[in-house]
Amino acid sequence: MVDIKDWVKQNDFFRKKVVSKNENNELQILLANFQGTAQKKDIEVRTKLPGDYSRVKINIKAFSEKVMQDKGGHAINFKDNFSIFRVNAEEFDMPYWAHYAMNESGDLSEIAKYNNTFCYQLKRCNLHCPWCYVDDISKDGSEKNNPDWFSISQIVDEFEKARELHAQGNGSCEGPLNNYRPSGGEPTLAVEQWLLSLRELEKRKLDDEVFVQGDTNLTTGHFIESLEKSGTIEKHLLNKVGERNNFGLLCSFKGTDTESFLNATGMMPSEYAFLEEERWHTFEKYVKAGIDAYPFVYDPNPETLPYFLDDGANRFGDGFYLKTWILPLKLYGPEIERYAKKSRITLGDDKELRDKFKKEVQQNLDERFAQSKEVMQKILWDKFRLNYQEITRPRVKLNAPNFLSWFFSS
Ligand code: SF4
Repeated sequence: MVDIKDWVKQNDFFRKKVVSKNENNELQILLANFQGTAQKKDIEVRTKLPGDYSRVKINIKAFSEKVMQDKGGHAINFKDNFSIFRVNAEEFDMPYWAHYAMNESGDLSEIAKYNNTFCYQLKRCNLHCPWCYVDDISKDGSEKNNPDWFSISQIVDEFEKARELHAQGNGSCEGPLNNYRPSGGEPTLAVEQWLLSLRELEKRKLDDEVFVQGDTNLTTGHFIESLEKSGTIEKHLLNKVGERNNFGLLCSFKGTDTESFLNATGMMPSEYAFLEEERWHTFEKYVKAGIDAYPFVYDPNPETLPYFLDDGANRFGDGFYLKTWILPLKLYGPEIERYAKKSRITLGDDKELRDKFKKEVQQNLDERFAQSKEVMQKILWDKFRLNYQEITRPRVKLNAPNFLSWFFSS
């Protein structure tokens, strides 16, 4: 039977594949190479890669005149706050996290400054989500597909180069580049990269302009504690991240009950069910550290979503209902093969069969998402007389649980 101690050891093993020291005794991490991957093909539909080890993501398409012209329309009017919040809700609200954190004036006309995000990917994950848009070879921790080692200062060099190209109008896409995202794989296998990146940006006097967007699958709380205990990472690392204004964290809850969690993470058999509680423990660590943590739920089960939200609200207060968003899943290149394997179907090169299978899987995901959205709307309306996503999230605060709140709620 696997338990949390074994899980910590497994993560340590994963970490050792992608974290080491360079000749100057600086931390270096192994980054995935996008060349030759299905993910590269998906990305290049919209943006060209700035290099082999990074990409630029456009968070909200409706903020980009070029993207919208390609679709036969126009970017939204940036004087119209209603349209801005509508597309935040329809796509992603990350640009607003950054805008809110960097400029509290309330004037939203500059929000598009934070639409483009420089991302790099640590070449190891600890989960196996079937719908992950990252190729397996880009998160297996192996030497396959020419990964390379980078110190944080080398990554920030790459970011600065890409930023310069954007400033000259020659970037991967139109507009400036002011978001920096350590991604993966699971970025917290090398959790110190957050603080090192924030410090490097500060050293280069970019901390007033650049927002760092972390992401995590919430399965490494105990692992981070073990790194701290052994002195592998500095003490109170998360609190030091939480002290910074220019950091926000995308926290992925996957599934809303044991079965949907295991399905959504590919962590069968059920002996990994203890990770369901680990994600709450990990989320609590971030909230307690003062990190601006944004709960997202991927692949919710509409039937258990209300219990999941109640559970979160018992732990973190009513803000949890308001700050949690569900996200739709769109099938890209790498996912179809995984779903086919899971369903024991061989697709081969038969395009018709592939398209039919993809359509069915996507339809299934879309239906569950539509039902879950209705559930969110009903809960928010019944509890607060608010529509789902009506409140902008950076303003919503979560309570860090303490002993007394546990005592009184149990
Ligand atoms: S946790 Fe993220 S990177 Fe890892 S498999 Fe799941 S979606 Fe992919």
